[in-house]
Amino acid sequence: MRGKLTVGNWKMHGGLTENAGRLAALAKGWHATAGRTLAVCVPFPYLAQAREVLSGSEVGWGAQDVSSHAAGAYTGEVSGAMLADFGCRFAIVGHSERRQYHGERDETVGAKARAALAAGVTPIACVGETLAERDAGTTGEVVERQLGAVVDALGADLARIVVAYEPVWAIGTGRTATPEQAQQVHAALRRRMQQAGARDVPLLYGGSVKAANAAALYAMPDVDGGLVGGASLDANELLAIARS
Ligand code: PEP
Repeated sequence: MRGKLTVGNWKMHGGLTENAGRLAALAKGWHATAGRTLAVCVPFPYLAQAREVLSGSEVGWGAQDVSSHAAGAYTGEVSGAMLADFGCRFAIVGHSERRQYHGERDETVGAKARAALAAGVTPIACVGETLAERDAGTTGEVVERQLGAVVDALGADLARIVVAYEPVWAIGTGRTATPEQAQQVHAALRRRMQQAGARDVPLLYGGSVKAANAAALYAMPDVDGGLVGGASLDANELLAIARS
């Protein structure tokens, strides 16, 4: 039984004052429910705040990226061990915005996933096709290539990660994949993970998830939860999604 995992991704939003209200609302509003897990991935400077407010609650927290290096002369980078120091349970790796705006390559995403795991932080490895790739009929090929780099990097540790399918055309656009479109890709990802020996890895869907569409997406057999961007900035909306 895989349950449902909902992870908010605040992206580069927030500030000490507004975060305080948002985090407190999550801590107060979320109660352990069998098979349901909720976490938020906040910008690096607010990890201490997330730890302070969410410690003792049932809500987990994490970061939106991690360095592929363990330590050293890598100005601006944040290591997995640093994330672990702040109690991070998760680190998103390979988000399409990192791939698009920061030139992150498949191999780097694999290395970041490995670095997170080495520090005891669970990587949420993102894959997903652009609209042009979907229109060209190459969705399967693209996500297989992206996931393949993570599979190659992790070997037997693959079973310890989370995968998020996030079609780029659905991120922040208000355009969601239909539950059937999501299920089709998730089923392929599941097969690929199982072939690699990772049977029960949670497969999240991301792309304009909100309370109004979460239940239909979460009802799909291979959709094990959601990675939620814009809607996660509203604590009540995120709570509603997580309860879907
Ligand atoms: C995301 O940032 O991972 C995401 C899915 O964004 P949104 O929910 O806003 O589409």
